[in-house]
This record gives sequence, structure tokens and C-alpha cells, in this order.
Amino acid sequence: MQVKGDRLWSDLMTLAQIGAGVAGGNNRMALTDADRDAKALFAHWCREAGLTVTVDAMGNTFGRMEGLDPSLPPVFAGSHLDTQESGGRFDGPLGVLAALEAVRAIKDAGITPRRAIEVVNWTNEEGCRFSPGLMGSAVFAGTLPLEQAHAVTDRAGRTVGAELDRLGWKGAAPMGGRPVDAYFELHIEQGPLLEQAGVTIGAVTQSCHSAFTDAICHGETSHIQSTPMPQRRNALWGAARLIDAIERAGYAHAPDGTASSVVIDAWPNNRIVLPSRAMFSYGVMHLEEAGVQSMISAIDAAAEAIAAETGLRFEIALRRIRKPFHFAEELVALTETVAHDLGHSVMRMRTRPGHDAFNMVALCPTMLIFVPCRDGLSHNEAEWCAPEHCTAGAAVLAEAVLRRANR
Ligand SMILES: [Zn+2]
Repeated sequence: MQVKGDRLWSDLMTLAQIGAGVAGGNNRMALTDADRDAKALFAHWCREAGLTVTVDAMGNTFGRMEGLDPSLPPVFAGSHLDTQESGGRFDGPLGVLAALEAVRAIKDAGITPRRAIEVVNWTNEEGCRFSPGLMGSAVFAGTLPLEQAHAVTDRAGRTVGAELDRLGWKGAAPMGGRPVDAYFELHIEQGPLLEQAGVTIGAVTQSCHSAFTDAICHGETSHIQSTPMPQRRNALWGAARLIDAIERAGYAHAPDGTASSVVIDAWPNNRIVLPSRAMFSYGVMHLEEAGVQSMISAIDAAAEAIAAETGLRFEIALRRIRKPFHFAEELVALTETVAHDLGHSVMRMRTRPGHDAFNMVALCPTMLIFVPCRDGLSHNEAEWCAPEHCTAGAAVLAEAVLRRANR
């Protein structure tokens, strides 16, 4: 069996023409017209490869290659085709299109595996338009109720359910609830470790400890020109100071830990009024639980000190704290063996970003495989995965999926 790297590369570059960004990458947010077109092209390529395509009520799309024993649970391989607003060509598409290429290579070699293989495109992995991310796989895995997912709105008030209807991608296939033998996801690392180590394949063992937090700084509206300085309660100033403290907490815990603020919104947000409210979010992540706790404590202490000095008030709500997800040791070992057999360097590592694979851990043995991306850059239009790394990742994915499917 031989994956065709040029066929995979051609698919990646063709897909990138849909929802092209402004700087060579992609802006193909979930359930936009561009996302619909990407879903349609993927389904077309699946049918062209002889796969049976089904779509569930989240728009998750499955291309099935039947196995010798259709009664056995299938092996899944996939990822997502939606991107961030400032997205690249590889974050997500590589995992979907490499899985498709894997199935083509298996077919080209005249092999019918014992178990069926299904290539999956999960809906709304990125979570930038509709929060939370990893949405389609969460509903499939039963951790997020379908009605709740359908009711999620974007900033314009449109719901996931209505957009699925509008785009014609609310399918009739059963929503999860069926046994899966194993799930494989190939992804760019979105960090610099593989590149720095000069290693081609990352066998991901687990994720990290993380927390996401929403913060509001409360002040008082007043005139920007006439209010004496000691009387000002400018919420934006408080937010700015805490945002600085959050970034510093990240630096103090590097390289094992990271912390940064994202998203800011002030009210009333005009040039003549000091804002009474500034809202922002921040995320912290660390290899160890104690590291996350230490950063949260440092940020809380900074908020207290800033409040005492400025007369502002902080409201800090921990939105989510997440322990690591662990991938199946048997599949980590399988990935290492396959990489060695194919002559690729491999190392065990952890993932910092979240992936649909996290949701699949609850359902079946799950594996996340990384390949390097240039400078570790992702969620940026310049994101780049070298053709030889795409090919190597696809080859390892194909061989691992085939061995698992023949089990
Ligand atoms: Zn991704």
C-alpha cells in the first residue's frame, strides 16, 4: 500500500480555494456558505473514491469503506474542515484529507480490511463562530445534547440548527449511539516541538491541564474630559492592568505553562465616556495541575491588588477547568511501530490545543498523530506543513488504520 502524496497535496490546495482568506490561508468558519462548499467537495471526493456517504443531524459527514465483516464496529479516521477567521490550510483539512487518501491507498492496493473504515469530517471544531468548539464530535459522543447544540447562536443571533437547515446539511443518519472500534486523527502540531527536535511524527499520549476564565472589570461611566483623575473609575484601565498580569503569569511559568488574554469588549465603547465595564477572557494551560492552580492564584492576587489600588472591582468566573485526556497506549505503541516500519522518526509528546479526538476518548481507543508545521505557527494564514510531512503523516495514518481495521 502506498499513499500518493501528490494526490493529497492537490486535494489540500484545491480545498484551500474554498473560503480563501486574505493572506494565503483560509476564513472558512463553521456553517458558513464556504463551509457548506467544503463539506460538499469532501462528500464528492468520498463518493468518487467509492465510499458511502452519510450525514447526521449535526452535519458530521462519514465516508464509509465497507469491510469484510460489516457487523464489526468500524475504525474512524478524520478531523475537521472548518477554520478560524485567520485560519490556515492544514489545521483540520490535513486530518480529513489524509484519512481519505489512506482509504484510497488501501483500495488502490486491492485490500479489503476486516473492519469498515469511516472517514469523518466533524462540524464546528473551531468554535469561533459558534461556541463551544469540538461541537459535532461532542454531540456524536453524547457529551453535548443535540438540542443544546442546535440552539447555540452566533453574534448575529443565527442558530446552529437554522444554519444547518439553510445550508441543507442537517442529515438523517443516526446521531452517534453506534459502536466505534477506534478513532485516529492526524493533525499539524500547532507548536514548535517536532520541528525543533527534527522529528517527523508525534505520537500524542495525552493533553494538558487547562482553564478558561471570563473576567469583567466594573468601573463607573463619566465624562472623559471633565472627570478629575482621582475620581475616575475607568474599567478599561483595570482590564489593561490585569491583562498585563495574566501575560506575566504565563511568562513566569514558561515553558511548561502558558497564559494569555483574548477577546475584549468595553461598555459603552465610545470616545467620550469612560467605560463602566470591560469584559475579557483568558486561558491558562500547564503540563501539571499545580501549574494551572499557581497561575490562577497569581492572577487572582493581581486582580485583588489592582482593585485595592484603583477602586475598580473584578468579577472573575472560571468557565471551564479541564484535566488531561489520555490516548490509548495500544494505539500510541502502534503509531510508534508503524512510524519505525515506514522509516520515519517518531517521539511521544503531549498536545496543548484541543481536538475532536478528546471527545472520542470516551467512546473508543483514540489516537492523535502530529506532524510538524513551520515555526509551530497555526491559526494564522501563513500556517504551513511541508508536502513531505503531509505525506509522511498520511502514510503513518494509513498503515495504522489498516492494521487496526484488520485486527
Ligand atoms: Zn484543528
